[in-house]
Amino acid sequence: MKYHYLFGPVPSRRLGLSLGVDLVPHKTCTLNCVYCECGKTTNLTTAREEYVPVGDVTAELDHYLASEPDLDYITFSGSGEPTLHSGLGTVIDYLKDNYPDYKVCLLTNGTLFTDTALRKEVLRADLIIPSLDAACSEAFNQVNRPDEELNCDEIIEGLVSLRHEYKGLMIIEVLIIPGINDTSEELKSLKETLEKIKPDLIQIGTLDRPGTEEWVEAAPEEKLREIADYLGSAELIGTFKPEHKTSSIRDLQNNRILNTLRRRPCTVSDLQQALSLRPAEVQKYLNLLQSRGLIETEKKERGTFFKIKVTAQPTEEN
Ligand code: SF4
Repeated sequence: MKYHYLFGPVPSRRLGLSLGVDLVPHKTCTLNCVYCECGKTTNLTTAREEYVPVGDVTAELDHYLASEPDLDYITFSGSGEPTLHSGLGTVIDYLKDNYPDYKVCLLTNGTLFTDTALRKEVLRADLIIPSLDAACSEAFNQVNRPDEELNCDEIIEGLVSLRHEYKGLMIIEVLIIPGINDTSEELKSLKETLEKIKPDLIQIGTLDRPGTEEWVEAAPEEKLREIADYLGSAELIGTFKPEHKTSSIRDLQNNRILNTLRRRPCTVSDLQQALSLRPAEVQKYLNLLQSRGLIETEKKERGTFFKIKVTAQPTEEN
């Protein structure tokens, strides 16, 4: 079968082996970023429509997943903005209902989460990675060149609301363009904004391949490290060799479990509900934490409770 909407699977440092799902035609986007690797946006829009038939996408997924391939994520991404597709929630639900063993990731520019209905549609995703390159209109307009319907402050409010409503993992990606969003003023407002959104992790990157505009340059690694330190607990993405062990999604999940257990002992079912994970996944992370001597169990009337081991020493990952 020739796939029109699926691509990969692509090996990715962040996501492992990821099958891509592209729900919109090439360069249909709410933004026209100066650094976009896919060229200029040819359909700049905020209109959510069924750009490609949902039935065709699910048929391709059925065909591909019939052989039960080993994948770390099924990821909505591509050369446009996936949240523009009005059937995004339907496809996520379809995957979650029919292929619950696969984890779903959404790579998005985050501009449409002002829409309450869209925020509801994505709640079942396991991981959402919105980008946010600027917190002030001036830099946002210069870097992202948005559709005229969009407003920087409203987009940020949308991301804050999403964080409140969404229980899965949220990683905000910031792409640094020297001279535009790396000024001290811009970084200060970006830091305040990120503190308001409270993602699980911030990732900092810069131009990796030729962008849409020739004048766009990559930020030096040293500068990116400075920015990552300033923003606090941010990690670098891109072509750099990390000096320190980079957080993986697995470590993030372990940290979420540890943070929950620090507040109170929990059963597998408590953790499953609190963190929107499947019981098998919770058990896998708990086994890992137990083997590292970080947690212990206690049997009570309601079942086996997991709690922080009193003697546990903090490790690099927690
Ligand atoms: S949001 Fe993504 S696809 Fe859209 S223009 Fe920016 S980089 Fe390109």
